[in-house]
Amino acid sequence: MTQIKQKSVSSVCPRIMNQRRKSTVVQIGNTPLGGDNPIRIQSMTNTSTMDTEASVQQCIRIIEAGSEYVRLTAQGVREAENLKNIEEQLHALGYTTPLIADIHFNPKAAEAAAQTVEKVRINPGNFGDPVKDFIPFLNLCKANHTAIRIGVNHGSLSDRIMTQYGDTPRGMVESCMEFLRVCMAENFTNVVLSIKASNTYVMVQTVRLLVDEMNKEGMAFPLHLGVTEAGDGEDGRIKSAVGIGTLLREGIGDTIRVSLSEDPEAEIPVARLLVDYATRQLAVTSYQLPVSGCRLPVEVREMPYDDVPDTSFIMVANPAMQSSARVLCATYHEPDLNAFRIKAAIDCGVFFLDNLVDGIRLTNTAPNITPQEVESVAFGILQATGRRITKTEYISCPSCGRTLFDLQTAIKRVKAATSHLVGLKIAIMGCIVNGPGEMADADYGYVGAGAGKVSLYKGKECILKNIPEADAVDELLKLIEKNF
Ligand code: SF4
Repeated sequence: MTQIKQKSVSSVCPRIMNQRRKSTVVQIGNTPLGGDNPIRIQSMTNTSTMDTEASVQQCIRIIEAGSEYVRLTAQGVREAENLKNIEEQLHALGYTTPLIADIHFNPKAAEAAAQTVEKVRINPGNFGDPVKDFIPFLNLCKANHTAIRIGVNHGSLSDRIMTQYGDTPRGMVESCMEFLRVCMAENFTNVVLSIKASNTYVMVQTVRLLVDEMNKEGMAFPLHLGVTEAGDGEDGRIKSAVGIGTLLREGIGDTIRVSLSEDPEAEIPVARLLVDYATRQLAVTSYQLPVSGCRLPVEVREMPYDDVPDTSFIMVANPAMQSSARVLCATYHEPDLNAFRIKAAIDCGVFFLDNLVDGIRLTNTAPNITPQEVESVAFGILQATGRRITKTEYISCPSCGRTLFDLQTAIKRVKAATSHLVGLKIAIMGCIVNGPGEMADADYGYVGAGAGKVSLYKGKECILKNIPEADAVDELLKLIEKNF
């Protein structure tokens, strides 16, 4: 006879439903972040920042969708200076949403942007020296009341950090902490932090580690959450909800950006639902919810492997290794497919990321959702957490002002040609400047190299440079076949 032990969710996963982390408040224009302020939602343009009219129009679409900040890339001083024209036009049209400049390599562009927009994001991995370049920048930010984000990405750490720590969670945290210590020494506190990765496990573990390290050093800076290069469609939504939702459920996170390879305004309803669903219990209890008394639509059942009753239970572990299985059972009545994907990924993701269960049984009783759609979401959660790989893994950036080709079309073409290659990780990235670093552990990379030009990578090695876009998918297939 089947022996099923029901376990309380809080006993299996005590991190869930903790209180919201208390962070400091950062003033970003008219929209403060952190502390008791709502968790803010933001997105980023993918127009050329030199194209004022197109950037203004896209900012408006993003703002009207509900974004509370808008980020624009500023790869050089010219782009940073043009942010002023964009902001002036937005103000003239009545839009006062704070703008954020995204800087990677150029301290001079950061200095120009600090005098123009409300916040500047720098990547410490390639920004420059934490003292020589950073302190003059902080002084400018102080003088202009400009906030900053120290934004570390997996795959773009400095050579110095890489030599000491490798491309590891510890290295990512140290990359952030050394710039933070300079901020503290300079008495500059208008700082937001982010540590992002396209791998949800790396992203969640690294942000948890960063919070621990900040606690040790008496820091409580607010956190920006995101899963980089999450992709598009179902996979992009599930991956983002697993990474961001897991941390929000633990009370971590003050602003989020869902990075989808879609139009930027499409990110906003996903982000809104994600924040509302992940935090609704935290919000109603004013950060005091106890770990027991959980009202999630999930339960964990432990049962002998031989008694796992039917194929709707999808397993991840090898039955030979254990006598019993811990199965996460989650039931919804959610007629909206996208909402179902996001809610299930938030509720279930942490159990697989933290290796707390061996299988999933997902149910949706809404009549318009088919069993195939439910199964696809269940397999999507297992893929997004790295616990069971059943399809090709795509890592694709959301594109930005550095992208010089139609990324969405490229993604469709690459997917159509490679979706049968189960288990391969293929990156489709908008630019050669950040793409190769940030495609992390992809097996192959299809990277924009200029207008109509693509470079192809095997791992980190560039194999074919600047080939015409029209030939790039065929060349990618040839490259994969040659190495199979
Ligand atoms: S990889 Fe390049 S194009 Fe894509 S989002 Fe990053 S900087 Fe922009």
